[in-house]
Amino acid sequence: MVKRPAGYPIVLTADRTLMANYDVLFDGMMGTIQTTSVPEPVMRHFVAPPMPRQGLAARKAPLGVRRIEAALLRDGFDRSDVIVVRPEEIDEVVGPETRVVAVSSSDPLGYGMSNTTMTDMAGGRLYTHTWYKRLLRQLNRMRQRGLRFRILAGGAGAWQLEQHPGVARRLGIDCIVSGHAELDAPHLFRTAADGGDLPWVFRARGARPDQIPPIHGATSMGVLEVSRGCGKGCQFCTIARERMIHLPMETILSDLEANLEAGVTSVCALSEDFFRFGARHGQPDPAAVKELARQLRARPELRLIQLDHCNVTSAALMSDDDLREIHDILVEGQHHKYLWVNLGVETASGELLEMNQKGGKIRPFRVEEWGELCEETVRRLIRAGYFPMVSLIMGLPGETEEHVAATVRWIERLYRERLVIFPIFYSPVIPGYGRQFTIQDMTPLHWRLFRLAYNLNFKWIPRMYWDNQTGAGAPLWRKLFIQLTGHLQIVQWQTKFILASGRLRA
Ligand code: SF4
Repeated sequence: MVKRPAGYPIVLTADRTLMANYDVLFDGMMGTIQTTSVPEPVMRHFVAPPMPRQGLAARKAPLGVRRIEAALLRDGFDRSDVIVVRPEEIDEVVGPETRVVAVSSSDPLGYGMSNTTMTDMAGGRLYTHTWYKRLLRQLNRMRQRGLRFRILAGGAGAWQLEQHPGVARRLGIDCIVSGHAELDAPHLFRTAADGGDLPWVFRARGARPDQIPPIHGATSMGVLEVSRGCGKGCQFCTIARERMIHLPMETILSDLEANLEAGVTSVCALSEDFFRFGARHGQPDPAAVKELARQLRARPELRLIQLDHCNVTSAALMSDDDLREIHDILVEGQHHKYLWVNLGVETASGELLEMNQKGGKIRPFRVEEWGELCEETVRRLIRAGYFPMVSLIMGLPGETEEHVAATVRWIERLYRERLVIFPIFYSPVIPGYGRQFTIQDMTPLHWRLFRLAYNLNFKWIPRMYWDNQTGAGAPLWRKLFIQLTGHLQIVQWQTKFILASGRLRA
């Protein structure tokens, strides 16, 4: 899209850590957890390299931004009035005719659990927060110079702005958009553009699967939404009460086409529970998952099909043969040995998990079975060819030393397996429900858990990362750069282990 001297009426963008040119999903995960302990030029050009653009428009954008763009176009907004841009182009696209600038972020204030852990361990301030603030300040300076547009703030991290209204107001935000807003975006954007009244927090109604508009351009990291929501009721999760829905196959394939047309050849099937795709009444439907995998794999130009999350229970309810067959379809024809899948174990103690969830994270299994169920499911996934990436939460409300000890023993039993484990610090997503866990709260047993997990990670992550990048066709210089910076970060973390806990090894 070309430069319009008076600016575009509707400008959609996201914080710079999301608007980066990542080859694989893990790149994006690494890019969005970095702190200012990484020098900014290194971060901006190598860790989160600039997104390519076509004219002034970003060639790729976060999925949520693409959905809003699609919703506006479907409702009659003129293509030439709506632009999706990188933060770098804001000065060029915002002008006297601009009425709305919408900014998406998954962690605008840096309160995401992985990110608070990273800040404590690596020091510095998170780039997600730092760059988000910088972008918002830039927009405010433009308004002080006389431009008249409203700022809408959305994305997966909108809950943080809601919980810290003082900060959000100081950032000049006019309206916080909470939830999936495809149905409401046209009316909301028209109201904002016409100077109408905006609520401080706009709660989107959410869309039925058939109401979700197919996207019109490529997504960052080739993110391909297959399901949304979860609804299993965990008190530490922002989508605990959002019922899971599955996108129609036509929408998924249309979104895939939009990515392929733009030259994106590695995608990621986005879901909080991949093995629940197509499931009814909580029981996985292996045939539906296989059909999804086959439909994606049918495109010969597609390289990696990466996974995102799966639930322990959904994987546990699948047979070994089904798990293996799904794996084999996904990697067919690819040199891809580390098909990772993120598994939310959280704690090996079913009792502790039960205290912190109000629904089905453990069902249909019994609370007492949780630790063993997770262990067995991890082993079965490994045997079926997957690379489990386990997340644990330290400092869950009600946690005792015995709960931590159970998780330590759980890791020890899996220590010789091919997996990685990320312990993260508990951070409340429900105001007043527990308190932020920090590095100062770590007992010697927490440290042992942390060192055990990271000794595994230091061994396997470089191999997995190399494999993923090779599979996606990343250039050699980038693979070498990631290996080098990865090793520097390992040394940084090991130093932290020694300084903070007096030990390097578990
Ligand atoms: S199972 Fe996972 S995604 Fe679902 S509510 Fe619990 S933590 Fe959230």
